[in-house]
Amino acid sequence: MKKLFIFSNDLRLQDNTALYNASLGKNGLIAAYIFNPEKWDNQNDSPLKIKFQLNHLHQLKDELERKNISFKVIHADGIKREVDQILNFVSEYKINEVFINREYGCNERLRDENLKSELGEINVDLNIFDSSIINPELIKTGTGNYFRVFTPYSKVFRAELTEKDLAILPEPLDQNLLVEESDDIPNYELTDENFLNAISKYPVGPETVNYIFEQFVKDKVSEYKKLRDFPSLDSTSKLSPYLTSGMISAKYCLNKLLETFDDIPGTGQHAWMNEILWREFYKYIIFHFPRVSQSKSFSEKYDLMKWRDDEKDFQDWCKGRTGIPLIDAAMTQLNETGWMHNRLRMVVAMFLTKNLLIDWRRGEQYFMKRLIDGDHASNNGGWQWSASTGVDAAPYFRIFNPITQSEKFDKKGEFIKKFIPVLKDVPEKLIHNPPNDFRLNISYPKMIVDLKESRKRALEAFSNI
Ligand SMILES: Cc1cc2nc3c(=O)[nH]c(=O)nc-3n(C[C@H](O)[C@H](O)[C@H](O)COP(=O)(O)OP(=O)(O)OC[C@H]3O[C@@H](n4cnc5c(N)ncnc54)[C@H](O)[C@@H]3O)c2cc1C
Repeated sequence: MKKLFIFSNDLRLQDNTALYNASLGKNGLIAAYIFNPEKWDNQNDSPLKIKFQLNHLHQLKDELERKNISFKVIHADGIKREVDQILNFVSEYKINEVFINREYGCNERLRDENLKSELGEINVDLNIFDSSIINPELIKTGTGNYFRVFTPYSKVFRAELTEKDLAILPEPLDQNLLVEESDDIPNYELTDENFLNAISKYPVGPETVNYIFEQFVKDKVSEYKKLRDFPSLDSTSKLSPYLTSGMISAKYCLNKLLETFDDIPGTGQHAWMNEILWREFYKYIIFHFPRVSQSKSFSEKYDLMKWRDDEKDFQDWCKGRTGIPLIDAAMTQLNETGWMHNRLRMVVAMFLTKNLLIDWRRGEQYFMKRLIDGDHASNNGGWQWSASTGVDAAPYFRIFNPITQSEKFDKKGEFIKKFIPVLKDVPEKLIHNPPNDFRLNISYPKMIVDLKESRKRALEAFSNI
């Protein structure tokens, strides 16, 4: 009785429901990773994220073998052919049962339905396990509907959360015997120079991930509420790359947090738990409202929005050449490191969708291509929140002024100066919006848009819908 577990965004041994269940019975287990560059390209996964995952897999492979679980690679070419290629693997290795953790995007759900029925044809069971802290089907409003607003969702989530939901599963059981020789991790070369420089900044391996989490809880979580909005400070957990690829589970984080601290409103711990719940909320949204994972606005009327099709403005935004120091520094952080601070994600997304009136989908796609933590649900949720088209979104008339945001959250311009070296000698009082003659001297561009006029244009466009 040979079993197959297939990795997705759950690259861990501890607290991995499908992997643990597959290991019960100790009948011989293969853990497989699907190597599918064509699919990654199609869904705009950043090569940095993929390389990061493969680096981590090097360590997971050793840990799996220590438990006598064989590691195999299923080579696939595109999402459509993935099912056939899994079926070929199942036949070749005479697999009797397959185990996966549920993914919530439309394509993944469709793939899993097809896989289930195709495997059924050859009498192989597909066991799908839920991958949320609380199964999204169980969280409902008093009238039995699904939540569309975060705060009441989070209240019900907290009220429903039991010790059982938070119980952490141990690592998979030792199988005593390796049933197949393991495969090597495939080669995957980074070509983007920024990514080549950035990858070494993201250490991998289960011990490293736990260490990052523990240090954050020990040293930073208490001050999180007070300091999290200042991009020049290292005050957030930076766990998003690890959570996105499932190198640590959100459940594990909450379990350990609540073991140490009480969940008291107003504290850093409560605020941090809320962010983990935002992550769960966006997964819940793509599950219950699949239109958002089909490139549609959550709020249907905004599908009628007439966005501006201005390639030059879009490229200036992508390359950090807007002439607004905070935005350009944020985009440089994204381009050079594959990560961006949350406050800045909101500021740059609002600038693109409101001041430039460019379609949020273009920004969403660009983020996915660059982010090491690119996560379909959170990215879509963040973009639609900023564009006011989404679930529980910022109202369209609430448009951040990027200069005011800069003065408030990067008062001394430390973050700006770190990422835009030509601005390093600009005095503090000029850093947020240097005068034009000053810009000329240091070859820093003029603003590509008038903030007042573009705000007015956005308000008109949104109110016309
Ligand atoms: C336009 C936009 C796009 C975004 N795209 C992504 C994305 O692709 N992947 C991603 O993981 N997050 C995304 N976020 C959410 C957030 O910016 C990042 O999760 C956060 O900056 C990661 O830093 P951290 O790990 O230090 O977070 P912390 O502040 O330490 O928070 C802890 C964890 O909570 C989760 N989290 C925090 N804030 C949010 C949020 N607003 N929405 C959902 N989950 C959250 C993350 O998993 C994060 O690691 C996006 C936000 C916006 C506004």
